[in-house]
Amino acid sequence: MTVRRTHIVGAGVAGLSAALAVTADGGAAVVYEAAPQPGGRCRTLQPADGFIHDNGTHVLFTANGRTLDLLEVIGARDRWFEPEPKGLPLYDGRTGEIQRVGLSPWSWLFPSRRPHGLTLPDLARILRLVFTAKDCPVASIIGDRPIMDSLIEPLTVAVLNTPPAQASSQRLACALRRLIRPGAGRLLVARNGLSEDLIEPAVATLTARGAAVHTGQRLRRLLTSQERVIGLALPDRTVMLGPEDRVILALPPYEVGRLLPALPVPTSFEPILNVHYRMKGLASPRFIGFSGTLAQWALVRPSHVSVTVSAADAVMDHHVDDVAARIWSDIAPALRRLGLDAETGRQPESRVVKEKRATIRQAAEELPQPPLRPLTNLALAGDWIGSLPATIESAVMAGEHAASLLRHVRCSRQTAPRDRPLKTENAA
Ligand SMILES: Cc1cc2nc3c(=O)[nH]c(=O)nc-3n(C[C@H](O)[C@H](O)[C@H](O)COP(=O)(O)OP(=O)(O)OC[C@H]3O[C@@H](n4cnc5c(N)ncnc54)[C@H](O)[C@@H]3O)c2cc1C
Repeated sequence: MTVRRTHIVGAGVAGLSAALAVTADGGAAVVYEAAPQPGGRCRTLQPADGFIHDNGTHVLFTANGRTLDLLEVIGARDRWFEPEPKGLPLYDGRTGEIQRVGLSPWSWLFPSRRPHGLTLPDLARILRLVFTAKDCPVASIIGDRPIMDSLIEPLTVAVLNTPPAQASSQRLACALRRLIRPGAGRLLVARNGLSEDLIEPAVATLTARGAAVHTGQRLRRLLTSQERVIGLALPDRTVMLGPEDRVILALPPYEVGRLLPALPVPTSFEPILNVHYRMKGLASPRFIGFSGTLAQWALVRPSHVSVTVSAADAVMDHHVDDVAARIWSDIAPALRRLGLDAETGRQPESRVVKEKRATIRQAAEELPQPPLRPLTNLALAGDWIGSLPATIESAVMAGEHAASLLRHVRCSRQTAPRDRPLKTENAA
């Protein structure tokens, strides 16, 4: 009997999710990853100088049900915890005040958790945003209101990595409808780091199921014949596929566009900049938001503090030392309020990580989307597929969906490519 294998290209979250779905019911999977380590945009950096940190802080919400299910499967659910159960501390760089803000709209019933400046007309605007029928920029619905600064802008760049003046109201609404569900708005972070608390347990589960994850294996070219993939050209060899083998490309859109140039794929991206300060932090991680500063979020870990600037176009070309110095003066007063030894004039060693194509730009416009199964035995996955915000959750969903699209395909007999849309909350 020929073994039917699924070859998964890309070991980011989408590829690992696809491999877990394929192997869940005994299927055989092989994963090929170009980089020396799995994880893609969601990884821990381990440089020779021993300053270990994630590429950038990643948060999950309890609304991200598919990711939480995946964490259960790989035995890592308890490694993601809520650093701020009493509401997110938000530091206003202009006034020096810290206010706790609830992320779930239900918590706004308590005045102490309400975003600064929230009024009844603002609630009406937020409701319009949540149930928006027509896609338009988020800012055009909310307008120039105090809550733009205290809630909408931080939320929009955190979820969509796109400024509110351009960001898609419909994509944000998808996320907000999920956050509104009772208990869904709790923010979670990895206790130790992305590789230790997500990527490594996923790879360990795959290995235990007999799947192989090969790193340093960039797919150079797809060999195709009669609407099927017949081989994968890797750096040092070509893997020829069996008649029942399938392929999942779990790659960013620019790689899919390079390998299959006829497909329409998104071509605009937004950067994220992260600065990591090597310093004594706190035994139990804390998370703090900022307004009125370049810094947007900071995660305080025991050995370092990581700061995120999403939709960071304005500072991507600045010298790393200037950015690190500016952000340090933003955050030092807030860190002192959390009890850290953080003198403004005494900046710790820092490392700046610039992710130029951190996510696709999620603007209020129709984004090019390819068919999800462009060849008989090939499906696509990746956070950019579908209409949800491009996040870990959409990557997990796209990986699972690609596996399910190929599950019942008869590959050896030539069939016309068939496509089903990726289910989103709306389609479900
Ligand atoms: C700094 C930063 C902060 C973020 N914060 C959050 C957050 O707080 N919450 C959240 O949910 N999401 C966040 N995201 C988004 C999240 O990281 C992504 O949505 C998710 O990791 C995408 O996974 P993916 O598998 O679709 O893509 P990728 O992670 O890009 O995986 C694709 C993989 O394919 C590999 N590859 C590329 N070309 C080839 C080839 N030719 N052959 C073989 N392999 C190849 C790449 O090396 C990579 O490992 C953040 C992203 C960044 C960069």
